[in-house]
Amino acid sequence: MNPGGVTLVGAGPGDPELLTLKAIRAIRAATVLLVDDLVGAGVLRYARRSARVVHVGKRGGCASTPQAFIEKLMTAEALKGERVVRLKGGDPFVFGRGGEEAEHLRAQGIAVEVVNGITAGLAATTALGVPMTHRDHAHGVILVTGHARGEEAALHWPTLAAAAAQGLTLVIYMGVSSVGALQQGLLGALPPHTPVAVVQQASLPQQRHAVGTLAGLAGLVTGQGLGSPAIIVVGDVLRGLHHASLAGQPMQHGRAA
Ligand code: SAH
Repeated sequence: MNPGGVTLVGAGPGDPELLTLKAIRAIRAATVLLVDDLVGAGVLRYARRSARVVHVGKRGGCASTPQAFIEKLMTAEALKGERVVRLKGGDPFVFGRGGEEAEHLRAQGIAVEVVNGITAGLAATTALGVPMTHRDHAHGVILVTGHARGEEAALHWPTLAAAAAQGLTLVIYMGVSSVGALQQGLLGALPPHTPVAVVQQASLPQQRHAVGTLAGLAGLVTGQGLGSPAIIVVGDVLRGLHHASLAGQPMQHGRAA
């Protein structure tokens, strides 16, 4: 890890055991760490005592640190010769603005390295004991955000549902706050009995999930009191999930299809 550069490090879904060796090495070497909300506390135990740790997330009462400030801070510290690690939940390049940050840094002439992390969608399906793809049920996956940047960028859910109906698993990030609209849109092209699951805090001890059908998706979220951070999974890979059992994980099943 070069001084004067920035490493965007994927901290995974929360469980520190899901960190990569590369991530641990980068965290250990860092002199400055800029840390997102969804980075599990256990991950920071690998940081040096002397490292400067800056929390730049939305939780903890403050509004989210403006993106421009984060980018400015990373640039300033890197130019001073610090070893800067930007720790992001999951994978740095799956949502979460890692792409924007890398573009900004490269435009300033700062070397950027990226270390993959296990993205929340993968942790969520694995927590359910199901694969994202399965030869019999799904020949692909769509990772999609339920939270578009602006109205005009909002997804047309019925069109997405039509693609999913061809045999693709939908893995929806940031979807719980707009679950009603999302459900209505998906019902435009997917049958009401399509299996769905919601996994909150995948890979952490507080992990909870619920399983049901598309017709009852919004009710499942409110009924079980599920909230962010959560992944919504839609598709036939979830079929038969009520038979699955996963040691050590609290199972909170609704009705499976
Ligand atoms: N870069 C991250 C995603 C950032 S967007 C990644 O690759 O995972 C933030 C969203 O990710 C949350 O709103 C939620 O939908 C999802 N998420 C992050 N951590 C999660 C977890 N442990 N369990 C469930 N969903 C999670």
